Amino acid sequence: MQQGKSNIRHLSLSELEQYFERLGQQKFRAKQVYEWLWQKHAHSFEAMTNLSKELRQKLQDEFTLPALTVDATQYSADGTIKSRFHTHDAHLVEGVLIPTDERKTACVSSQIGCSLSCKFCATGYMDRKRNLDYDEIYDEVVLINQQSERVYEKKLTNIVFMGMGEPLLNYKNVLKSIERITSPDGLGMSPRRITVSTAGVARMIRQLGEDKVKFKLALSLHAANDQKRNEIMPINETNHIKALIEALNFFYQQTGNEITFEYILFKDFNDSRQDADELVKIYRQVPADLVNIIEYNPIEAAVFSKPDEFTTQQFMQHLEKNKVNARLRRSRGKDIDAACGQLANKESV
Ligand code: SF4
Repeated sequence: MQQGKSNIRHLSLSELEQYFERLGQQKFRAKQVYEWLWQKHAHSFEAMTNLSKELRQKLQDEFTLPALTVDATQYSADGTIKSRFHTHDAHLVEGVLIPTDERKTACVSSQIGCSLSCKFCATGYMDRKRNLDYDEIYDEVVLINQQSERVYEKKLTNIVFMGMGEPLLNYKNVLKSIERITSPDGLGMSPRRITVSTAGVARMIRQLGEDKVKFKLALSLHAANDQKRNEIMPINETNHIKALIEALNFFYQQTGNEITFEYILFKDFNDSRQDADELVKIYRQVPADLVNIIEYNPIEAAVFSKPDEFTTQQFMQHLEKNKVNARLRRSRGKDIDAACGQLANKESV
């Protein structure tokens, strides 16, 4: 980004209005520019053709308009599409389009890399470089939506913040991006179609409750007792399961929004009858709608593998017997490293 200039997308509509007033321009110019920025997805001032040449030049002189661009795209045999995006400061970040008959879901990243070092996750083995700005997260959604329209002739129906990074450690940008995604002068999507997934930052889960957010929340649980969870998710050492249960209850009291647990099954680690029992216990303490049991996708850096089909089915049946609303999620996009926990900016094929 050029020095001294500010990112025009970091100005609110009223700040833009004030700017144009100071220039002696009419107020509606701000609306026009805002539309170019958030609805027509202009990536240059030159593209804003309903402004005079002089005005476009003025904006060009005073502001920057950095945007994500698609650096590489990979297509999985199952229809999943992984994109690697390029930021204005030469970082790479990934997003995934997961199509089913009923849904077109974008899985977006909130940080470049991640600081939480979950042992089973490829992103966890990368350093956290920086947070994504809200306009960059917005761009991910816009670019994946364009892909969905091009390849599947359908708009995105859902967004999950389950890509690279811990969304609640980039709280302001994630919330602001959702405000832009859901606003009528942004993408106009329903917040009920958005799920933010956290590795479990209790304080920030409470903050979501206090802020009375409208989107859904998923907790990546992956182990149902503190000892095991500490082993695979270091964040648990300071955010233990009891604190998470309390925070989730507070979130639910404040918002009434859907809560989901995510639980990846790891062979001989968290797939026994006792593990299932402990998961049932946690489920009963939280008004959660659903437990997603996720098929693990091995990554090179980690020692975990997935259990055999029989063990997986036993685990599922035990949950069912105990009236847990659980669903088995088969992996998508495995062949292109686009599945859960596999995002690591690997070279494309
Ligand atoms: S699972 Fe999520 S929070 Fe954990 S290291 Fe991976 S990206 Fe970070």
